[in-house]
Amino acid sequence: MGFPNIKAYYHSAILTNVIRWYMVPSWLHTIFPTSPDLCWRCHTTKGTMLHMWWTCERVNSLWKVTATLIKKVTDLQITHDPKTILLRSLPDNTPKPIQKIIYLMLSTVSILIARKWKTTELPSPREIENVMTSTEEYELLMWNQAKIGKISPHTATMWRNYLKQANTEPT
Ligand SMILES: [Zn+2]
Repeated sequence: MGFPNIKAYYHSAILTNVIRWYMVPSWLHTIFPTSPDLCWRCHTTKGTMLHMWWTCERVNSLWKVTATLIKKVTDLQITHDPKTILLRSLPDNTPKPIQKIIYLMLSTVSILIARKWKTTELPSPREIENVMTSTEEYELLMWNQAKIGKISPHTATMWRNYLKQANTEPT
């Protein structure tokens, strides 16, 4: 595994703003009337913020895949709604280490969606896994050296255990 990309860290610093930062077709159309207001993934529905991040069929199934991955890692089934997934609002009684790994996973997927902005592509499960792994390595390094960062060794272990299990499962 390569040394985690420093960029990933800076990306994580702007995570909470990712969704607000990216211009969606309906806004672009307001500013530049020649720019189509349709979603660039499905080309059938007006590309509002809610559509681009949530209701568009393909992005919605990506969030379902993400929830399945979260279930595998944490054993917690998160609610399939925009408040939980886009605003990362989890029930108060969710244990802290689990909250942290879920934030990290949801943020990773948001960043990957944003990286493919204005294309018809969405991140693959493999890409999500790779970026999660390098972010986890970087965060753990920060923790070990300075006791700062988004995850502690306990949180990181959940991801490592998942990877170990996923790699031994028969395909
Ligand atoms: Zn769409």
